[in-house]
Amino acid sequence: MKKAIRKVLVINSGSSSLKYQLFDMVKGERIAKGLVERIGCGGPKDHTAALDQVVKDLGDAAKDVDAIGHRVLHGAEVFKDSVKVTKDVMAKCRKLVKFGPLHMPANLGGIEACEKIFKGVPNVAVFDTAFHQTMPDCAAMYAIDPKYYRKMGIRKYGFHGTSHKFITQEAAKFLKKPVSKVNLVTCHMGNGSSLAAVKNGQCVDTSMGLTPLAGMVMGTRCGDIDAAAVLSIMEAEKLTPAEMDTLLNKKSGLAALAGSSDCRDICAMAEKGDKKAELALEMLAYRTAFYIGGYNTVIGGADAIVMTGGIGENSSEVRERIVRRLGALGIKLDRKANKVRGQVAVISTRDSKIPVVIIPTNEELAIAQDTVKILGK
Ligand code: ADP
Repeated sequence: MKKAIRKVLVINSGSSSLKYQLFDMVKGERIAKGLVERIGCGGPKDHTAALDQVVKDLGDAAKDVDAIGHRVLHGAEVFKDSVKVTKDVMAKCRKLVKFGPLHMPANLGGIEACEKIFKGVPNVAVFDTAFHQTMPDCAAMYAIDPKYYRKMGIRKYGFHGTSHKFITQEAAKFLKKPVSKVNLVTCHMGNGSSLAAVKNGQCVDTSMGLTPLAGMVMGTRCGDIDAAAVLSIMEAEKLTPAEMDTLLNKKSGLAALAGSSDCRDICAMAEKGDKKAELALEMLAYRTAFYIGGYNTVIGGADAIVMTGGIGENSSEVRERIVRRLGALGIKLDRKANKVRGQVAVISTRDSKIPVVIIPTNEELAIAQDTVKILGK
């Protein structure tokens, strides 16, 4: 008989930091969480050294880890679900580094470190893109010469899939519907933000694209933009592709519009009458409402609009600005209910045609759950 999987370590290994959480999956409790920073720049020299630090920090809790779940940025079309890590899986993942040159080596470095330090403990890779692999071609393809898809895999992949999947499952429970029958627009709004159109429990469209740059107005990313504008700026400012990438990913969005990437700061500035902050919030709300309207059409009518992430879970201000724009869908905000923070709640009125539901996401728990599921197969 297979040994029951009890202790699951979840690793989110980034280029210079490694976040971890340890779960007791039998009790359904988190045992520990932590962060190792400045990997390769003043702190631990590499991911193996960082993981050594994690083992030290965990002390006795690091004993008897049954399985390890890893957040992996990009599974392209190769991985449509989470997968137990084998040599073959690692070889396939290495071929996908081109899709995430910054994140993928760090993600894979985390797995390799675990293979060294937790000898014999199975690793599971959970991909940020996997949930979106059910998108039909009409949503996933770009209207450019298809040879770029064939040669380079240029298409929409989408991200935050673990979160969209988790809140889809939680929303189905909340609505008392089977996941396979639930239609939702899920809005993950944090530093990075994306929306997904979920039909019968499956993703049929999402706002991020080949990379996480597309879609929403984000903390430091511009989201949707005319590609010709990018070319004009590159030409005028004589920027290299790498410099332009930095400008669009790190120096745009709320940071460029209002001087801070943090939604709390912007809300406080707008409250004091700051015009730039006001416009930034309106742009954010406008684009979110625009996507919600489109996705509601795409899925043939939503059972609920679901909001999550740091902003979705906590910002009454941003939620109000979004919902205010959804009158055409018969959605009405319950201003009192909208005061809620960080818990499951309906923030629309009883007579609202579509309920707006807040569901806190928990990507680490979702990774731990997938790890148990995959290893139990
Ligand atoms: P990440 O994408 O890095 O996981 P989070 O999901 O934690 O980020 O979201 C971070 C965002 O959530 C920040 O813009 C932050 O300002 C915003 N946020 C967190 N709490 C609040 C709050 N009470 N009011 C408004 N915004 C909030």
